[in-house]
Amino acid sequence: MKRYLVEPGKKIVLAERNPNDTRAFEGGKEKGLKVLQELNLELQALQEVLYAEQKHRVLVVLQAMDTGGKDGAIRRVFEGVNPQGVKVASFKVPTPEEMAHDFLWRVHKVVPGDGDLVIFNRSHYEDVLVVRVHEYVPKSVWKKRYDQINEFEKLLAENGTTILKFFLHIDKDEQKERLQARLDDPSKHWKFRLGDLEERKLWDQYQEAYEDVFNKTSTEYAPWYIVPANRKWYRDLVISTVLVNTLKDLKMKYPESEENLDGVVIE
Ligand code: AMP
Ligand code: MG
Repeated sequence: MKRYLVEPGKKIVLAERNPNDTRAFEGGKEKGLKVLQELNLELQALQEVLYAEQKHRVLVVLQAMDTGGKDGAIRRVFEGVNPQGVKVASFKVPTPEEMAHDFLWRVHKVVPGDGDLVIFNRSHYEDVLVVRVHEYVPKSVWKKRYDQINEFEKLLAENGTTILKFFLHIDKDEQKERLQARLDDPSKHWKFRLGDLEERKLWDQYQEAYEDVFNKTSTEYAPWYIVPANRKWYRDLVISTVLVNTLKDLKMKYPESEENLDGVVIE
């Protein structure tokens, strides 16, 4: 999965990344879905120890263009995990109260505590993406945010938070198909906003803004992965693999009882 990692300090060109790529997995979709199932069981087990141990904090950031598959990835990758230790935080257009604070205020409030795994469905990165593309704040303001974000993530990392950031990379044709599918299915109309068509017109500006995000904010302590996401099974497989491997590396253990349980008999 190293090939999808944005190496800190190394400039990437988004157009050179193939959203159809399925290279890292030989077996094709059918086999891929089986492996995904196995990874899902592993993730469930790892999350249980994470919750029991109350030592580590895990933050998963998901960003994508509209229809990129954030909702689907959350549903599939985290299927079956214990809701007690897992939370999803979704970031929408800021409320007046949020607007009256610095852009990280609403974010810091919902970062994971000990034993928690928190998934960000959109994130503080919107403040250098949608905000930049629409010039909601002047350049002099958003320009400073990359450093502010790096400092913020460093603070989290130095305080026991493992951070993984995933960009679900689809292409413009795939977005067209997915928007059309939403339009054709009344049960998906709630997800379709006419505004999405206006955003689509800004595709190139968004790609450019994303490129800056990767080139400025992929760090050792909070790396970005650019996940080929035209194929949903492969997208989920990449995210699951990175997540499971990262959690394994934490070498988590179930805590021992603080009491001596030797010879305890239950009457
Ligand atoms: P959705 O994720 O489809 O429910 O849409 C949420 C919307 O909120 C998207 O259009 C985002 O671009 C927008 N959004 C999220 N964060 C911000 C922000 N900081 N400033 C402006 N718009 C935002
Ligand atoms: Mg939407």
